[in-house]
Amino acid sequence: MNTHMTPEEFRRYGHQAIDWIADYQARVESFPVLSKVSPGEVRAQLPAEAPQLGEGFEGVMADLERVILPGITHWQHPSFFAFFPANASGPAILGDLLASGLGVQGMLWATSPAATELETLVLDWLAQLLDLPTRFRSEGPGGGVIQSTASDAALVALLAALHRVSGAATETAGVSTGRYTVYTSSQTHSSVEKACRIAGLGSGALRKISTDPWTQSADPQHLAELLAADVDAGYTPVLVVASVGATGTGALDPVAELADLAHRHNAWLHVDAAWAGVAAVCDELRFVNDGLEKVDSYATNPHKWLLTNFDCNAFWVADRTALIGALSILPEYLRNTATESGSVIDYRDWQVPLGRRFRALKLWAVLRWYGAVGLAAHIRQHVGLASEFGGWVQADPRFEILAPYPLALVTFRLRAGDQATRALLDAVNDTGQAYLTHTLVNGQLAIRMAIGSVLTERRHVEATWTLISSLGG
Ligand code: PLP
Repeated sequence: MNTHMTPEEFRRYGHQAIDWIADYQARVESFPVLSKVSPGEVRAQLPAEAPQLGEGFEGVMADLERVILPGITHWQHPSFFAFFPANASGPAILGDLLASGLGVQGMLWATSPAATELETLVLDWLAQLLDLPTRFRSEGPGGGVIQSTASDAALVALLAALHRVSGAATETAGVSTGRYTVYTSSQTHSSVEKACRIAGLGSGALRKISTDPWTQSADPQHLAELLAADVDAGYTPVLVVASVGATGTGALDPVAELADLAHRHNAWLHVDAAWAGVAAVCDELRFVNDGLEKVDSYATNPHKWLLTNFDCNAFWVADRTALIGALSILPEYLRNTATESGSVIDYRDWQVPLGRRFRALKLWAVLRWYGAVGLAAHIRQHVGLASEFGGWVQADPRFEILAPYPLALVTFRLRAGDQATRALLDAVNDTGQAYLTHTLVNGQLAIRMAIGSVLTERRHVEATWTLISSLGG
């Protein structure tokens, strides 16, 4: 029977685990990007029951190599161009490991003051690095918090908006469903619809703003019409979500115009910049911040394109009153002097769960390791590669580009149509040499080339274009 791992055993296995990760980083390119296992294949190779007596850690490492690795789709492969990237980096992995080692649960300032204070600092740093409006900084009524995901950010934005618009009825009576409406474009991530369902409004509360057929950005005129019609019909608009870098094609909504319309109806404006927001570390890409001085909340994911292992969503509010009002309940067992003094932040009041990991440590490690210059170089490299890739696609008469690509996502298709485009995508992914995913643009199937992995170099993008071109008929 095993008892607890001693510090010496931990040191020994820890060295093995770190060595394994370093070796994985060095050989990740040698694997097929997309796992080829069939459903059930991984599980079938493992015992159906947990062991009665503990085993050595060697068995975990052996099975990791033998069973788990073949079932991994290699998100850190340099030719992973699917979805959006999920960057992992050395400093982030180590920061996460240190957070695990400390094992703190930072729900209250008092349960680990450093966890809270570092998080506040790091989000202020990030707000400065991205040149976000100063109203998001913690010195004023606003501030930032690390959520798990952009989906959580959208949900808490909706809860804060409901709290504000209902005059705090969410604290006691709740809100009557069927009365409140939410607005976003057809390009916005499905997390907004999910938030409507979780909040009890249902998908029926969501109004889809139509988009421009080329830029795919939300049409403010249509939003104005939707708002007016709903108000006339007796609904109360509660939230408008603008996308900056929408999932399908990377569309950029006209944030300032949408915010003006939202505020005219006392609705909250949340910006979902999950993927694209971090591009603002580059001066020349600060257009992603256009209009942010008018918004109520803003979210971007360092866990996508800013070198910070999942999970790490940075969420800021211009005024934290409604957010805390919506989410704070103080049971007796959480009462403490620091909270009652009113001079500390308790991040449990800024999120749905009570408990929280010390995620600031990995983001802090990333910001310190790379610095502003290193972060900008990372983003800039991918934007340059996407521009080059887009040029190659455009120069080939068999292909067409379906949306602008100012950042690092190129959306294209074969002019031959949906069937040919689907067959090309499958053929490329079947080679194991690259992994790309698809979307629909104006009802047509399109391939998305999302460049942003940590290890991606020009040669990987070039080889992927050669592959696409050779299989493109
Ligand atoms: N918003 C956008 C624009 C996205 O692209 C995504 C995921 O790709 C999400 C939200 C959801 O991200 P998360 O997994 O952080 O909830």
